Amino acid sequence: MADFVFSPPAVVTIPVAGGGLFPVRRVFCVGRNYAEHAREMGNDERDPPFFFTKPADAVVTGGKDIPYPPQTSDFHHEIELVVAIGKGGANIAPENAQGHIFGYAAGLDMTRRDLQALAKKSGRPWDMAKGFDSSAPIGDIAPVSSIGHPADGAITLDVNGVNRQRGMLSEMTWDVNSVLTDLSRYVTLAPGDIIMTGTPAGVGAVVRGDLLEGRIEGIGTVTARIG
Ligand code: MN
Repeated sequence: MADFVFSPPAVVTIPVAGGGLFPVRRVFCVGRNYAEHAREMGNDERDPPFFFTKPADAVVTGGKDIPYPPQTSDFHHEIELVVAIGKGGANIAPENAQGHIFGYAAGLDMTRRDLQALAKKSGRPWDMAKGFDSSAPIGDIAPVSSIGHPADGAITLDVNGVNRQRGMLSEMTWDVNSVLTDLSRYVTLAPGDIIMTGTPAGVGAVVRGDLLEGRIEGIGTVTARIG
């Protein structure tokens, strides 16, 4: 038995549709990747994407409730396609990117929008706006062996049964292969890494008691209630 000074944390896992658990290593996120959402946030949609991260233990699975986080009064939803990496690598060529993908899921990049706005204004990091506890609800992973590589389905989010966000995966400024290629120039990707690939237009605030239901055609769903 190793000489740990306290019990090490449990491995964070995401259930795989059809059986098994995907062990999470790191959570990467794309900053902006749908033109209409870039415009609603006041940015030029031609800007290249950029990356930020969340800790692995921000992931919440199984449709569990998430708490309304402290230090915000503008807590926003962002429905996103999640790419689950099954094979690592650096400097991945676009034509080889699909071979590194284990599967796909629907996820929510929950955001303290007020802290993000302050961080942007003051040139500070986004960590406390994006990488807080329970900030990444994610649905079950659909393996590529079952669904292939869906690239043109609808991506939607309803809050309390009312549609808030709607887009198409085909509207991504940088497609999944391009995202993997770009990210793998900055870090060596590893099995267990997941990538949240940006959100379509329609982001907005939620309050305690709200039920969030995200869906990506051909991939799956993600559900979270704000506790
Ligand atoms: Mn996002």
